[in-house]
Amino acid sequence: MSESNDCLFCKIIAGEVPSSKVYEDDAVYAFNDINPKAKVHVLVVPKQHYANVAEFAAADPAGLAHLIEVAQRIADDAYHGAYRLVFNTGLDAGQTVFHVHAHVMTGEKLDE
Ligand code: C5P
Repeated sequence: MSESNDCLFCKIIAGEVPSSKVYEDDAVYAFNDINPKAKVHVLVVPKQHYANVAEFAAADPAGLAHLIEVAQRIADDAYHGAYRLVFNTGLDAGQTVFHVHAHVMTGEKLDE
């Protein structure tokens, strides 16, 4: 797996920074967001380092589809398959960690 030395999420995936793991397989790692914006707020992250979702989609479309399947399963378990899926992309959109991650917000009826 390629890693970025200073990447927080690469360190979480490697177990060098603690996280509250929800799910893991060969391709993705999912953990509870430390600052949840919904009753259930999970980040789903590919183990391979890509800066953002467009880079991920271009390099590995099947990997992106798999990540979305994992998000769906988390929401199936947490709240009958209803969820909000957010990929903040770019500083001005609120992206603070430049390792692509899907915010899966679920577990309750969400505000519109
Ligand atoms: O989309 P954005 O890049 O802002 O999302 C980063 C997310 O990572 C934030 O929601 C933040 O709460 C979360 N985070 C985390 N654990 C850390 C550092 C950040 O869950 N150790």
